[in-house]
Amino acid sequence: MNRVEIVALPGDGIGPEVTSVAVDLLKVVCKQYNTELIVTELPFGGTCYEEYGSPVTEEILDKCIKAKFVLLGAVGGPQWDDLNPDKRPEAALLQLRKELGVFANLRPINVYPALSSASSLKKEILDGTDILIVRELTGGIYFGKPRYTSEENGDPFSVDTMKYSRSEVRRVAKVAFEAARLRDGRVCSVDKANVLESSRMWRKSVIELSEEYPDVELTHMLVDNCAMQIIRQPTQFDVMVTGNLFGDILSDAASMLTGSLGMLPSASIGGENGLYEPVHGSAPDIAGKGVANPLAAVASAALLCRYSLKLEAAAQQIESAIISVLEQGLRTADLFTEEPGTKLVGTEEIATALMEIVGKSVPQTD
Ligand code: NAD
Repeated sequence: MNRVEIVALPGDGIGPEVTSVAVDLLKVVCKQYNTELIVTELPFGGTCYEEYGSPVTEEILDKCIKAKFVLLGAVGGPQWDDLNPDKRPEAALLQLRKELGVFANLRPINVYPALSSASSLKKEILDGTDILIVRELTGGIYFGKPRYTSEENGDPFSVDTMKYSRSEVRRVAKVAFEAARLRDGRVCSVDKANVLESSRMWRKSVIELSEEYPDVELTHMLVDNCAMQIIRQPTQFDVMVTGNLFGDILSDAASMLTGSLGMLPSASIGGENGLYEPVHGSAPDIAGKGVANPLAAVASAALLCRYSLKLEAAAQQIESAIISVLEQGLRTADLFTEEPGTKLVGTEEIATALMEIVGKSVPQTD
């Protein structure tokens, strides 16, 4: 049996509730694929602040870096909103991403057939949607220098800089090409190359790299057209790769195709490191009530299997279990619409159903 160590950072609010479902399932599924998962659970965010006076400590960061693979719940809550910016739970998240050097953020946008009525778009437009958005996470206009505010002839102005180097583009594009190989073999690179210098560099660098991936089809799309195409015909996309600013906006727009925040997982990867977390926050309004939807956390665990543990079959097994639970009609409150054949359940019932499904569906390999 292989042994793999990961760190779990359940965090605040519903973080611990959804993370424990994901960790329990992950352990069981990994075992079926001959892998023993050793999970070290550490405080992070507001809970860490309460214990250590800081939302993350050097020791916790070191353990995450050493483990390389981190599963995170969520951080934040109203009780920590008035702290100094460096003491707020979100500061820990930014620091962790930086320390792990995770430069590519992957957000799969799957429309589960059982939930297609939960979206604001028509079912016939959504059916078959399966997009992977790869967003550059540590460069572009959010980090570019110079960045300042000044004044010209009494008129104040501000400057931000959108800068991309060839190497920055290549490393994130590589993630997209590699991911496409595990999917439908298509990459759409999104930029604004008709106007921006940095986008022309982006496009040129992606084209150069594509020569190493002759088996992957590469297309280009301008970001304004892309925003429209995501809504018009989302099924046309397989993997989309784009810069930090465009990816931020496009991934939020695309997330609404799925109809619920409680269903969206994410992976941030860089080198050998991977940080996996649901897109939703700590949902303080429902924390401790046993009603949180754990499926985004569980889907994040599937991504950990896929991108860090390289256990594709285990990833697919977890993803099929999510589909089965939805097909059984089980719905947490965020998804419940009183459709015939559906039943309102809590976090625990979803966890039990997932365990039953994975227990039945795969023969033990050891
Ligand atoms: P949120 O995502 O926590 O909640 C928004 C709404 O969605 C709430 O009504 C909540 O009950 C619901 N919701 C979210 N996840 C759910 C789930 N799994 N199951 C059922 N319902 C769910 O966003 P918010 O209310 O804007 O933020 C709350 C706190 O979370 C804030 O402190 C914010 O800073 C933090 N936050 C953290 C992260 C993160 O850790 N990555 C991301 C976003 C927000």
